[in-house]
Amino acid sequence: MSLTKYIFVTGGVTSSLGKGIISASLAKLLQARGYTVTIQKLDPYINVDPGTLNPYEHGECYVTEDGAETDLDLGHYERFLGIPTSQANNITTGRIYQSVINKERRGDYLGKTVQVIPHITDEIKRCIQLLGIKHKFDFVITEIGGTVGDIESLPYIEAVRQLKWELGPTNALYIHLTLVPYLKTSGELKTKPTQHSVKVLLENGIQPDILVLRTDRDLNDDLKKKVALFCNVDQEAVVQSIDASTIYEVPILMQKEKLDETVLKKLKLDYSEKAKLEPWRSFLRKLKNPKHTVKIGLVGKYVELPDAYKSINESFKHAGAVNECEVELKYIHSENIDESNVNEELKDLKGILIAPGFGDRGIEGKILSAKYARENNIPFFGVCLGLQCAVIEFARNVLKLEKAHSTEMARKTPYPVIDLMEEQKGITEKGGTMRLGSYPCTIKKGTKTYEAYKKQDIEERHRHRYEFNNLFLDDFRKAGMVPVGINPETNLVEIMEIPDHKWFVGVQFHPEYKSTVINPHPLFVNFVKATIS
Ligand code: GLN
Repeated sequence: MSLTKYIFVTGGVTSSLGKGIISASLAKLLQARGYTVTIQKLDPYINVDPGTLNPYEHGECYVTEDGAETDLDLGHYERFLGIPTSQANNITTGRIYQSVINKERRGDYLGKTVQVIPHITDEIKRCIQLLGIKHKFDFVITEIGGTVGDIESLPYIEAVRQLKWELGPTNALYIHLTLVPYLKTSGELKTKPTQHSVKVLLENGIQPDILVLRTDRDLNDDLKKKVALFCNVDQEAVVQSIDASTIYEVPILMQKEKLDETVLKKLKLDYSEKAKLEPWRSFLRKLKNPKHTVKIGLVGKYVELPDAYKSINESFKHAGAVNECEVELKYIHSENIDESNVNEELKDLKGILIAPGFGDRGIEGKILSAKYARENNIPFFGVCLGLQCAVIEFARNVLKLEKAHSTEMARKTPYPVIDLMEEQKGITEKGGTMRLGSYPCTIKKGTKTYEAYKKQDIEERHRHRYEFNNLFLDDFRKAGMVPVGINPETNLVEIMEIPDHKWFVGVQFHPEYKSTVINPHPLFVNFVKATIS
């Protein structure tokens, strides 16, 4: 293909319609036709990145290979496409303004008044096209966060309006996602919200090329015709997106609705052959027809909002499917666990995962859960803070180091088994200052971890400030909790195991960020396997 094509995805009526999944599904279909595709998310909030956001606000913060803290939709993009995203794939209003203000301070604008139009919109356009330069991708799909009509999204809408005008109609197109609600009282599906939402887009100078209508029941041809007529789009460009039992079904549903074909047709590209989705379909078959079920406890402190652990949830779906096993996740609030109820709360679990996290709320509940898993030989997986809790528990109860702790929770602990990393000392700013992104790790042969990865040299993504304190390494090793993965450059402990236990693995990194449909993460796969046997 000669030029990169740009597809802009907007949403109307309400948020949470699944723009991210529609974008990822379309990308998957194009990828399955042999195109190179990437997806970008533009977020209209003023935080420079979501790294400083409480997970209750927007769910999990997803970390890329290059260490960007990003929106959780990037996780979907990677899980669907199996190719890494980067800092350039998530842009916020905060980042746009930061860069424009920096340029202004440098004097780049040569005395001009700096304004939303053209300076902010030009910066948005630059960020969108960054992914298109060097022609690494045939398609760049840009998802605009928020809902049309929001004050915050206006500069983005204006920027993409200009971009299509500049690029030409066969190099860019607009997809607009709306909701068609069913009103029980009248027994009807309603198209008015869609009409209104398209009107808002039109007021901003954008005529959508394709409409994707989210619905909980099938839309008939008459309804599609009506929407087409009132919204000024071709009838075949009105696509239904019906609620699916799993997000992984959506590419198949979009293929049935010919979303990819319509896109290719409008961009004057060949659409004669159908996208081949075989490995994907085989994953779906396994996901939907499990032979066993296991109940695994996810112990964390944001459990009221499962989106806070999005990548972990999805990793279990991928790993479950490989094992032909349905993983029933029981979310356990660590604040509710104490000595008196830990046995009761965790008793029917076949495996326990302690989730990542920050701060001391609920920390003792996590430490008790690690103790329960260790003493009862229940498969255990500690992720980041989860590893740190297992280390603290082992120090207190096996090494008998009373009041051992992480200096994150107890600055004056007599036994700082988890301590601030050297490079973190002296850092005071919070945004983007953790140890972030991909780092190497060397795995010891003959361990559960090696059995999973089947190789010694790996790279995994990080997001933390604290680490295992190597002063205690010998004591741990002698007592039966051993480091089996070490960063070869810095000597930081990356993975700890208890070899005498059925399956007890703690990792300082976040394996969940790298699990995809086609390449489920080996540690999740073997953890689930250990819970079945
Ligand atoms: N709070 C811990 C640290 O900063 C763990 C972080 C995490 O679980 N991502 O090291």
